[in-house]
Amino acid sequence: MTGVQDIFYNEDYSPLWEKVVLSEEGPINPKIPLILTLRSENGFVSAKQIGASSEGLRSAFTFYSQNHRELPIIDYDQDYTYIETLQKFPTRIGLVTQMVAGDLKYYTNLLEWVHTMMFQDTPFSLTAEQLLAGANYRIQFNSLIDSLVLNNKELGSPITFSLLERQDTEFKHKSGWETKKPLLIKVGERIVTRLINDHRTSTELFTYSGSITDDGQSTQHVIVPLMNQGNCFACLIASTNEEYQDSLETFKQTSKWLSLLLQKGYQADKDENEAKKKDLLLEVTKKFHSTMDISEVLAKIVYAIKQTYPSFSVYLMLSHEWEVREELPIKPLIYGAEGMNTKAEHAFLTGIKQVDKDRRNQIVHLFVPLRGKQGIYGVLEVRAIDLETLPEEEISFIEMLADTGGNALENAELYQQSRDLIHDLKLINKATHQINMNLNLNDLIESMTNQIQEAFSAQEVGFLLFDRNDSSVIHQSGTEFFESTHNVEQLHSLIQQILHKKDPIYIGDTGLHQDIETGSFRSLLAIPMLQNQTVHGLVFVLHQESYFFTFETFKLLQSLVHHSTLAFTNTLLHEELEKLVITDHLTNLHSRNHLEASMDQSLLEHENGTFLLIDIDDFKSINDTYGHQIGDEIIVQVANVIRSNIRETDIAARWGGEELAIYLPTVKLDIGTDIAKRIVKAVALETNPSVTISCGVSYWDKNKSDTRSSASLFKDADAGLYKAKYGGKNQVFLSEL
Ligand code: GH3
Ligand code: MG
Ligand code: MG
Repeated sequence: MTGVQDIFYNEDYSPLWEKVVLSEEGPINPKIPLILTLRSENGFVSAKQIGASSEGLRSAFTFYSQNHRELPIIDYDQDYTYIETLQKFPTRIGLVTQMVAGDLKYYTNLLEWVHTMMFQDTPFSLTAEQLLAGANYRIQFNSLIDSLVLNNKELGSPITFSLLERQDTEFKHKSGWETKKPLLIKVGERIVTRLINDHRTSTELFTYSGSITDDGQSTQHVIVPLMNQGNCFACLIASTNEEYQDSLETFKQTSKWLSLLLQKGYQADKDENEAKKKDLLLEVTKKFHSTMDISEVLAKIVYAIKQTYPSFSVYLMLSHEWEVREELPIKPLIYGAEGMNTKAEHAFLTGIKQVDKDRRNQIVHLFVPLRGKQGIYGVLEVRAIDLETLPEEEISFIEMLADTGGNALENAELYQQSRDLIHDLKLINKATHQINMNLNLNDLIESMTNQIQEAFSAQEVGFLLFDRNDSSVIHQSGTEFFESTHNVEQLHSLIQQILHKKDPIYIGDTGLHQDIETGSFRSLLAIPMLQNQTVHGLVFVLHQESYFFTFETFKLLQSLVHHSTLAFTNTLLHEELEKLVITDHLTNLHSRNHLEASMDQSLLEHENGTFLLIDIDDFKSINDTYGHQIGDEIIVQVANVIRSNIRETDIAARWGGEELAIYLPTVKLDIGTDIAKRIVKAVALETNPSVTISCGVSYWDKNKSDTRSSASLFKDADAGLYKAKYGGKNQVFLSEL
C-alpha cells in the first residue's frame, strides 16, 4: 500500500499495523486521506496516515489528541470527523477524516475491518525472553506479574489479566480489578473461589464462560491455578470477550511456561524471605547469647519483629517484675486480673499460641508464649491489620523468635538468680567467718546484729537465748527495741509458738495479729536457732514498713541463722567451760577467771597491787592486712613479751580477744607504771609484724583505806586504757579516779 506515513511511531504497535498496511485487499482507499489511530485510556498511542498528506487533517488529529479525554465515539469538528470502534480499552481503533455525509457506513466498515485485521486472530505472542526482560531478569513473582501486564499492554492484546491470591479458604483480589467497584470485586472473589474449589482435583488451567466481575464485557476467562508445594496459592485469570477467543486460545499455550515461571518466582520469593528471616533470627540469637541483660533481650525481640513486619504492633506481656527500659511496649501479665485478654491468658497457661480475630476492626491479635525450658515468662502480642499479612509461616517464625526470646529471658533470669545466690553465699560466708572469730557472746551478737542490719536493711534486731533444760530466757539483747523486757514480753505468744512448733515465722503486717504488739514495727521475721531439734535461741528482725521483707530475705535470714546457731551454742558452751579453765589455749597465759580469782585473793591477803589492762592498737587493720592467723600469732608474740617482762609471781592473763591483763601483787604504782612502760616499748620493738599496745593502769593500797574489788580495779584500768587510746595509743595511762 502506498502513501502510508507514521504520524507518530511506537515500535510496540508495528506488528499490529503491519497486518493492516500489508493487506492487498480491504476497504482502504489510498485516495481518501485519513489518519488511523490507536487510543488507550491515556490518549493516542500510535497513528498512521493513509493517502496524501494534508495540513487540515493533521491539525484536526492534533486537536483530537489534545482533547482525547472528552472524545466521544464520533466527533464532528466542522470539516473533520473522528470516529472509533465500540471496543473496549486498552486500545481502541479510530480514524480522523474529512467525512462526506452518507459515508458513515463506509468508515465504520473500514474500522471494523482494521480492527479485525489487527486483533482478531491475534495470537497472544509473549515470549519468555520478553517477560524476563520486563522483569529485569529477576525471577520474582511480583516483578513477573508486572512484566506480564506491561507486555500485554504494549502488545495491544485484547486480554486483561487479574490476579487473586489465596487467604485461608478464599481467593482475594490482588491486582487487575483496581478500577472496579468494591462490591463487584467481592462478587468476583466469591465466583473465583467457587470455581477453583470446583476444580480442586485438577491443578490444570480451565476456562470459564460468563461474567466474573459483572462488567458485561469480559465473558471468556482462562483461569490458571498457580501451585506451590501442592497448594494453590494464587490464580491468574486471563479475560476477554468472545470475539477474541483466539487470543485466549494462544494464551493457553503461553500459560504453560508462564505458570511454571510464576511458580518459580513465588518459590524464589519464599526462599529469599526465609533466608532473610533466618539471618535475622541468627542475628537476634547471637545477640541473645551475648547478653544477660533482660531489658536488652526484650528490646531485641521487639526489634526483630518490627524489622520483619514494620506494620505490626508488638507488645510484651510479662509475668515477672523485671526492671526494663521505659520505652519498651510492656504490659503486666496478671493471670485472672480484670481486663486481661482470655486468649493471652490461655497462651500463657498452655504455652500454645492463640489467634484472636477482631472481625469488625479487621485486626488480628496473635498471642505467642515466651517459653523457656523451665517455664513461661510472658506472652508476646502481635497485632496485624488483617490475616493476609499473617499467614501460617509468618506465625511460626514469630513463634520461633518468641521461643528464642523465652530461652534468653530464662538464661538471663537464671543468671540473675545465680548472682543473687552468690551474693547470699558470700554474705553467709562472711558472717560465718566473723561469727567463728568471736569467742565471746556479746561480740558474736553484736557482729550478727550488724550483719543483719546491713544485709536486710533491718531496723531492729533481737536475740533471745533459752536455757537448755526449761526453755526459760537466759539471755536477751539486741538493738534498742529488744533491750526492753517489756517489749519482749509482748511477743510471748509468738515465742511460745516457735518453741513449740520450731518453725520460723514471717509476719507481713503485725497490725493484723492481735496477740502480738510491736509498736510502730509492722514487718516481723522470727527465726529459731535449732540444733538437734532443740530451740536454743531466737532471732527477731523488725521493720516499720509492712511487707518490707521479701520471701527471699526470709529464706536468707533462715540460712544465716542456721549457719550461726552452732557458733552460738559453742560460745555458750565455751563461756561455761571458760570458767573452769585457768590457761588460755592460744597464749598459754592465765585465763581471765583465774586472774580475777587471784586478784580477789590478793585483795584479801596483801597490802597493795597494780593492775595493767592492755589492748593491742589498731588490731582490726592487722587482721585485715595479714589475716587472722598472723593476728593470732601477734597476740602470742605480745603475750611472750609480757611474760619475759614480769616475774613468776605476777599473773598475766588473756582478758579476751586481743586484750591482755597483768596483775602485779604487792607492786606499788610507780614500779607498776615502769613495768607497763617497759612492756609498751618492748612490744613495739619485738613484734613482727610490728604492733603497739596501749595500757591502762590502776592501783590499790590497803593503807589508803579505799575498799577495792577486782571489778573496780578493772573499771579504773579500762578508763586509763581509754585515755591512752584517745591520747594517741602506744602509751601508758593511769586512771585519775
Ligand atoms: P584500737 O587501737 O582502738 O584498739 O583498734 P583496734 O582495731 O584494735 O580495735 P578493737 O580493740 O576494738 O578491736 C579488736 C579487734 O581485734 C576485734 C577483732 O577483729 C580482733 N580480735 C579480737 N580477738 C582476736 C583474736 O583472738 N585473734 C585475732 N586474730 N583477732 C582478734
Ligand atoms: Mg580491743
Ligand atoms: Mg585494739
